[in-house]
Amino acid sequence: MKQEDIQSIQKLLSTPKKIAIIPHRNPDGDAMGSTLGLYHFLQKLNHQAVVIAPNIFPDFLAWMPGAENVLIFEKDKENTTKILEEADIIFTLDFNALHRTGEMEKVLEVQKALFIMIDHHQKPDEYAAYTYSDTQFGSTCEMVYNFIHFLQKESLIDKTIATCIYTGIVTDTGSFRFASTTSTTHRVVADLIEKGIDNSGIHNLLFDNNSYNRMLLIGRALQNMKLLPEFKTSYITLTQEELDMFNYVKGDTEGIVNYGLSIKGIEFTAIFIEHKDENIIKISLRSQGHFDVNQFAREHFEGGGHINAAGGKSTLSMEETVAKFESILKTKNLINQ
Ligand code: 5GP
Ligand code: MN
Repeated sequence: MKQEDIQSIQKLLSTPKKIAIIPHRNPDGDAMGSTLGLYHFLQKLNHQAVVIAPNIFPDFLAWMPGAENVLIFEKDKENTTKILEEADIIFTLDFNALHRTGEMEKVLEVQKALFIMIDHHQKPDEYAAYTYSDTQFGSTCEMVYNFIHFLQKESLIDKTIATCIYTGIVTDTGSFRFASTTSTTHRVVADLIEKGIDNSGIHNLLFDNNSYNRMLLIGRALQNMKLLPEFKTSYITLTQEELDMFNYVKGDTEGIVNYGLSIKGIEFTAIFIEHKDENIIKISLRSQGHFDVNQFAREHFEGGGHINAAGGKSTLSMEETVAKFESILKTKNLINQ
């Protein structure tokens, strides 16, 4: 972040402000961790801070400190819109284009508040007065940790803030196994552990709290997996009917896409999940190595993300979406280039 921007933000935060903090729609561990971490930090600085999520967050994140105070835009448009209208500052975290907030985009676009973006996705839009954007980072949470240091307020990082930041680092780095995990990430985590977080307990809350139905859904997903070895590709489908069969709740499909990459020789994988209520097939893409799934998502499935992890959507049927996916692979032979 530019030194002059840091100084301006320091000045801005030197008197109490009304601050709204926004994660992307369908917030994940990094979106919730970064917004809640910043929320606790700003409260300690005596600001009136509130996290407003565009829609509900998954149950497996409900234990996070402060989650009970998160407002949901899609559930309470009137009140949350009023808060946004009265805000001095709006932080947008873990996304870089306002359309990632869904319906909330229309409201955010017209706000007079000063916007600050902290994010690690490619190609940020230019809506913020101050943009801290860097694709080198594996998580927005690691950037929030840096942001607090830029402001020279690291002494305020307590166990609560550290717990939130750790959650986003763990989830977005795939428990420290993705290529985006650096020596600095581990140094940051070492510091968070020294702040007193229960790192093993947090991991447990995030990953060892499955319902039996979720395990059965994962079983079905694995049975549905298709391999295209000539393109070093695999993919999984889950229809709405299958989700219903296992009493799907938000968050149940989180991370299933990664199984596709765990097969020897596979470098590109996708999961196609039918959402009948929105009339879309939600797509998650993952790769290992140089294949750029962000570009693939942008070009073919109205999405985006990072080089090795991206997402998008399709309004075609499941069969047509999968056929389109296979046809792109066959005509372009991307993986073997
Ligand atoms: P996931 O597959 O876990 O939903 O998302 C992987 C990455 O791609 C995340 O960084 C996420 O923010 C991004 N992403 C997922 N879906 C979309 C989308 O529809 N549009 C864009 N621009 N990015 C997405
Ligand atoms: Mn993230």
